[in-house]
Amino acid sequence: MEWPDYAAPMQNAPRWSSLQQGPGAPGEAMAGRPVTLGIRAVTWVAMLLACLCQGVLAAPPAVELPADVNQISLTPHLAYRHDSTSSDRMEDAFAHLQAGRFEPVPGGNAAFGFQTGAFWFHARVVNRNPTEQRWVLVQEYPLSDRLDVYVRYADGRILHQAGGDHLPFNIRSVRYRHPNFHLELPQDEPVELLVRVRSESSMQVPLELYTPAAFTELSRDAQLAIGLYYGILLALFFYNLVLWISLRDASYFWYLFHITAFGLVLFTLNGLGFEYLWPNWPWLADKSVPLSICLALIGMNQFTRNFLELPQRWPVGNVASLTVISFFLLFGVASFWLPYRIATPVAALAVLVGIAWIVAATLRVVRLGYQPARLLLLAWGMFLLGTAVFTLLAFGVLPKNFFTEYGVQIGSALEMLLLSIALGYRYAGLRNENERIASEANVMLERKVAQRTQEVRNALMQLEEAHGRLRESSRRDGLTGLYNRTWFHEAFNRMVREARDSGRPVSLLMVDLDHFKAINDRHGHLVGDECLRWAAGRIAAAAGADALLARFGGEEFVVALPAHDGPAAMVVGEAIRATLAAASCPAVQDPIRVTASIGVHTLDADSMDANSRDGIDRAFEIADRAMYAAKAQGRDRVHTLAATA
Ligand code: GH3
Ligand code: MG
Ligand code: MG
Repeated sequence: MEWPDYAAPMQNAPRWSSLQQGPGAPGEAMAGRPVTLGIRAVTWVAMLLACLCQGVLAAPPAVELPADVNQISLTPHLAYRHDSTSSDRMEDAFAHLQAGRFEPVPGGNAAFGFQTGAFWFHARVVNRNPTEQRWVLVQEYPLSDRLDVYVRYADGRILHQAGGDHLPFNIRSVRYRHPNFHLELPQDEPVELLVRVRSESSMQVPLELYTPAAFTELSRDAQLAIGLYYGILLALFFYNLVLWISLRDASYFWYLFHITAFGLVLFTLNGLGFEYLWPNWPWLADKSVPLSICLALIGMNQFTRNFLELPQRWPVGNVASLTVISFFLLFGVASFWLPYRIATPVAALAVLVGIAWIVAATLRVVRLGYQPARLLLLAWGMFLLGTAVFTLLAFGVLPKNFFTEYGVQIGSALEMLLLSIALGYRYAGLRNENERIASEANVMLERKVAQRTQEVRNALMQLEEAHGRLRESSRRDGLTGLYNRTWFHEAFNRMVREARDSGRPVSLLMVDLDHFKAINDRHGHLVGDECLRWAAGRIAAAAGADALLARFGGEEFVVALPAHDGPAAMVVGEAIRATLAAASCPAVQDPIRVTASIGVHTLDADSMDANSRDGIDRAFEIADRAMYAAKAQGRDRVHTLAATA
């Protein structure tokens, strides 16, 4: 078996393995080596002596701590043994060590993934530093359940210390998130360091040795980095909390849920949960990892569902999302009973599946053309990258470095930031959409109001027209279409007032059809009606445009002529008489002759008495009398009392 050069400062030192090769180690590779029997015997003796002298003689390659070094990584120099039944005690481990049953850690990296049983690690340390006798051994992975550190000095003294998150936090040498142990390393004295690790979580043992000063600096720098990370998370949390309180958008709530649960996941993985939240409840240390992972994934999926509006945009995807959420809900509850060894790897794998699903759903919604989903996709991309890197580290696939160890922190900080931006972007989109809808609604409303106003206006116009028609029909005589007697009186009163004011005369003509009863009697009332209409038309035509004409009653008509003195009125009266006499009513086969007797009376300025209705009534009376006089004189004539007076 060939040891690698894992103890660089001791390259010229005799190789430990060569001291251990022999029949006592039958399973180990010896083939092809020209080893003589004599040498084997010497080896045997040396090994026995080594056992007796507690390893002083069996000097393995030692890790030297030079004078100018204040920190050294022990991991590449470690030899390990997997005690799969977890049954070895310290003495057994030392015996196995002496028997050469320890192997160098593969690739200088003590990361083995999830394992059962205990792992023993060994290093031989020689402190060449004259000023620093006190060192701090730090296990830079916070989730290991139990560590036992045995330090064996040259004088055979063995000191034991224990740590890990299955023991209360305050037994740690330094109150720090990683298990740590003070070691006394006397100058130039080889010290055997044996570390037993048993853990249900991933078997990672990155052991570092620091001088107290270097350790203080490390913890200060690490705390700053962690503080920055949680500072970002807290700032995003409170920023979005304020937005949630003011906007009441469920997406903000699920963002807060997600960021809190995710912060808890990292708090747990960093060892800070144990340090600050449950230092005296080691049982919670195991449960907190799968539990917080489930909470974070529930928040993440709910956030995505809400943000992408899956129920509306992609109902099938919504059902799938709810299924994923239900799984994490059930698994979160189950993780209280499931062994950590099963719960955590399953949770870690489920994280990948859960996030892959979220990415797939986001991609789908991006394809559906929802713009804010693009930012979401970028955010998940960041997170997925960080988580994948960290998960691969947990399974021992990737080496430990700044980017793998802090992959989740870097990825998630970017993710949370992008999510917050995406929320703002989405909110702006919603607000624009709302404004668009509101302005559209306004336009619609205005259009409707205008339409209604027009309708009301039309209705009013129709009403006005109807009212006008009604008013007009109330003034008209139904049979002839001429004004009726009532309206004539009103209009005639006005005409007389105007005539008096202007000092001009007004003439009144009473027109009575002759022997009309006989027409009715001979031809019937319908024919009589027809002749009444015919006579009305002719009278209107002959009276002229400025005449006021009405059916006074029965077969009597009245005509008022403004600005007509007696002779002018006689001319019009004569024209009316003549037009009737000249033609015949065309109602039946034999034309019917219709004549009229017309009484004329003129009101001059002297006879018009505006203050008394008597003046007007008297005018009617006189015109009536003149008409009767015309009858008496043989009918079909025009008469005025003034002429006979
Ligand atoms: P006179 O020459 O003396 O005026 O004789 P007259 O028959 O015209 O006069 P009278 O007053 O005796 O009769 C008037 C007639 O007019 C009676 C009535 O039959 C007729 N008359 C009145 N109003 C209407 C009407 O609306 N339609 C019809 N068809 N006849 C009417
Ligand atoms: Mg009459
Ligand atoms: Mg008559």
